[in-house]
Amino acid sequence: MHATGRQSQELWKRAQALIPGGVNSPVRAFGAVGGTPVFVDSGARCSVKDVDGKQYVDYVMSWGALILGHAHPRVVEAIRTACEKGTSFGMPTEAENLLAQRVVECFPGIDRVRMVSSGTEAVMSSIRLARGFTDRELVIKFEGGYHGHVDSLLASAGSGVATFAIPGTKGVPASFTEKTIVVPYNDPESLTRAFDQYGEKIACIIVEPVAGNMGVVAPAAGFLQFLRDLTSKHGSLLIFDEVITGFRLGLSGAQGLFGVTPDLTVLGKIMGGGLPAAAYGGRSDIMLALAPTGPVYQAGTLSGNPLAMAAGLAVLETLIEDPPYTRLGTLSRTLGEGFRDAAAKAGIAIQQNRVGSMQTMFFTTDAVTDYASAKKSDTDKYAKFFHGMLGEGIHFAPSQFEAAFVSTAHTDEVIDRTIAAAGKVMEAIR
Ligand SMILES: *Cc1c(COP(=O)(O)O)cnc(C)c1O
Repeated sequence: MHATGRQSQELWKRAQALIPGGVNSPVRAFGAVGGTPVFVDSGARCSVKDVDGKQYVDYVMSWGALILGHAHPRVVEAIRTACEKGTSFGMPTEAENLLAQRVVECFPGIDRVRMVSSGTEAVMSSIRLARGFTDRELVIKFEGGYHGHVDSLLASAGSGVATFAIPGTKGVPASFTEKTIVVPYNDPESLTRAFDQYGEKIACIIVEPVAGNMGVVAPAAGFLQFLRDLTSKHGSLLIFDEVITGFRLGLSGAQGLFGVTPDLTVLGKIMGGGLPAAAYGGRSDIMLALAPTGPVYQAGTLSGNPLAMAAGLAVLETLIEDPPYTRLGTLSRTLGEGFRDAAAKAGIAIQQNRVGSMQTMFFTTDAVTDYASAKKSDTDKYAKFFHGMLGEGIHFAPSQFEAAFVSTAHTDEVIDRTIAAAGKVMEAIR
């Protein structure tokens, strides 16, 4: 196992005495891979430096938020300039218009957009809006889909298909998830059955159009269009949770890539430029059902915060001026192919799932197309790979069921170095 430095170990001890489990978001605790987390001192371009001075090439990139890399000069400058003019007003600012304008121009499914402060908040609000607009209560989500820690969506499938969900965590009453139906991803039959049974009560389907939170799992051919047709037919709304895929798979996200336009879209991560911002948007008639124009209440003291708007705007303008998606796709493909060859050479069975600049390597012999097949991955093997790579100065997510992200700050040289390290680690863990 990778040896965590002394300073990190000291901070970890202190953190555990002050913060539940030592972390402010559970996956950071290394629970799925064992060992002691590394404390970060700083980041620049595609690397982070820990408090003991060790450098790591980073493929977590704040869970996909940092598509331009760490501490991008233009983003830092935008935040500095905004900061000097005041950090929060609770009154409208032009920065909110400027970011909203870019989002509306980029996303076919967004005519109007509301800013909030986290992906969780955006999802929660979009579900409330879908229910308020349709006057229906049921929500369909997919097994292995993650939409933040919204009570009613922290749900796993009950026994049998198209039954109501059971809470996936303590602290959520069963009555909160009984309006949620959980079905397998990429499974049209289960959806058809759910709509046959409850069609006129279903407010919306919420889906990650490319799943990123059970590891990367692409939608099967025609699956997103199927969701579009099914929801339209039954008067339900289709919500794309593009918190990861928005501005990651292209300027118009997964909806642009696959040519399927949802009724509502949720954004986060990249659009906040590494600050706490997220958004949800959609068709004007739906969005105008929000307060103050409509009857669905939603609000936020720090919503549209000027620092976050400035950071997001700097990122989006950089992406729009010179879209990096072809190059990001090539870098990510090279990385994936390098891993595939390294695994083959070491005689380790893997499945390499990749869409654009997001990818996951599963340690399993069978294709990964949904949560059930993702869960077949050998997570002990992943833990060994993770620690081996960390030892080599390369940081992947501390869990099998996450994505590896390439940013515009990653270079061919860094990708080659990562592949060489993977070859070494694979030999060691075979
Ligand atoms: C990260 C994520 C969220 C939650 O966003 P937070 O800002 O962490 O609340 C929601 N949906 C998806 C698809 C995500 O990846």
